[in-house]
Amino acid sequence: MVRHSILILGGTTEARQIAERLMAMNRFRLELSLAGRTRQPAEQPVPVRVGGFGGAEGLAGYLAAGKVDLLIDATHPYAARISANAAKASSISGVSLVALRRPGWERQAGDRWTEVESVEQAVAALGSTPRRAFLALGRQELLPFEAAPQHVYLVRSVDPVEPPLDLPQVTYLMARGPFREADERTLLQESGIEVIVCKDSGGGASYGKIAAARDLGLEVVMIRRPFLPDVVAFETVDALADHVAQAFPQERGE
Ligand code: NAP
Repeated sequence: MVRHSILILGGTTEARQIAERLMAMNRFRLELSLAGRTRQPAEQPVPVRVGGFGGAEGLAGYLAAGKVDLLIDATHPYAARISANAAKASSISGVSLVALRRPGWERQAGDRWTEVESVEQAVAALGSTPRRAFLALGRQELLPFEAAPQHVYLVRSVDPVEPPLDLPQVTYLMARGPFREADERTLLQESGIEVIVCKDSGGGASYGKIAAARDLGLEVVMIRRPFLPDVVAFETVDALADHVAQAFPQERGE
């Protein structure tokens, strides 16, 4: 039986779900690639490789060496570099690329969003008056907040923030989503949070804080999504998996 080979660029819940869906079809050779950002990554249903490829050329070489038939970009919407590399590697190698592009959240009545382009702009948006801010960001994105030591911070991340930030008033919370709206509301209220800083991740797993903020009338400083290359893309795991199933139909006799 010919098994087509698929490389999934992952690190998201959807990447794991895509791997599960394709695995269940029992006709692909699958590998999932992680950047290696989290210390104890979630269990994956397929073989995993970890670490960068060395840019677009490195990824193109990896695709050629592994005789990969299809590349799936299911990385986080803010992981702009790997998505750009995936598009470039696809054109260098000729290996088809499909992406999962999780839609962003839509602003609803009652939302108090201040949209900014970068973490640095988010720091500026907090203003000079001391506030209690909840930072729901990756630990690699926190350093710019050292420029605003007047605020009281609650930082939530998957892994510990090491070294700790050079800030006088910061509390660390280690947790991995999904986060329920009711729990988020309790957290925001008990910590006396006045403003949230986060990314427009989309999806349901981290929407609880957005809904809770709306409910409590809190400001959300929303870091806008980066530019991603225009490639064949699907918004849901099911749509992408169906596309793959059709692109590589089961061969007769299988
Ligand atoms: P990035 O800036 O797009 O990628 C930086 C480099 O990391 C890439 O050039 C590549 O190195 C390597 N890389 C990234 N994803 C990879 C993968 N799946 N497999 C192998 N190598 C990979 O992405 P990032 O540094 O991972 O993250 C950037 C942003 O996305 C941050 O805002 C982060 O918080 C967010 N993010 C969130 C989640 C989440 O689930 N919440 C997950 C990931 C990222 P080479 O060039 O050497 O190949």
